[in-house]
Amino acid sequence: MPSALNERQLSGIGMTSARARQRMIERLRARGIDDEPLLNIIASTPRHLFVDEALAHRAYDDSALPIGFGQTLSNSYTVARMTSLARSSSSMEKVLEIGSGSGYQTVILAQVSGVVWSVERIAELQRKAQDRCHSLQIRNVRFRVADGHWGWAEQGPYDAIVCTAAPESVPEALLDQLSPEGGVLIIPVGDQQQQRLLRCTRVGDSFQQEDIEEAFFVPLIATQASL
Ligand code: SAH
Repeated sequence: MPSALNERQLSGIGMTSARARQRMIERLRARGIDDEPLLNIIASTPRHLFVDEALAHRAYDDSALPIGFGQTLSNSYTVARMTSLARSSSSMEKVLEIGSGSGYQTVILAQVSGVVWSVERIAELQRKAQDRCHSLQIRNVRFRVADGHWGWAEQGPYDAIVCTAAPESVPEALLDQLSPEGGVLIIPVGDQQQQRLLRCTRVGDSFQQEDIEEAFFVPLIATQASL
């Protein structure tokens, strides 16, 4: 697992950033995130590098941030919650992420996973996400530009699938690509008025679905058939 974020990357944008990061971690604890190793990873990951410089001062606030193309980087609670839900019930050896976006969730996942495969439909966003992984020396991520509704079948089955955009119903292909030995899918489902975050667990050919909480994600856009 990579741990090699260097001093310059960790020092962020000065003392303000160190305090802002600590406040962010305290807010996550207050909202019930109690996975300490994950909180340490979030504290040491430079979230400000995943947004435009003009927004860097807001990177540790409790908000989602624009990343271009009408897309958003989820707030830190959402990233922490999805990652801890996946981690608490999966070995995280093989992980599929749908919606690379800025690459922030990807980099958090990469630090708690064996290998992450990440699918994004907008090539320009993915290129930037890839550059950020590279500059943070995160080496266990593979990227692909495609419609995430179809997952990444060739690399499955996955111990965990984390989807960071909301379809109207759970895509069959993602369920099919879960490991039959307890694979978990963490996914928001619904429209722009109402969404629920779900955890679907596969054991053999049966699927159990848990409703976790309200969610707020951009839509998972249907583009094309499997590439
Ligand atoms: N996890 C991201 C935030 C993602 S926002 C982060 O940490 O920054 C949701 C992302 O899903 C956007 O980048 C959007 O382009 C992507 N997306 C939407 N529909 C998609 C689809 N059908 N296939 C793949 N990616 C999709």
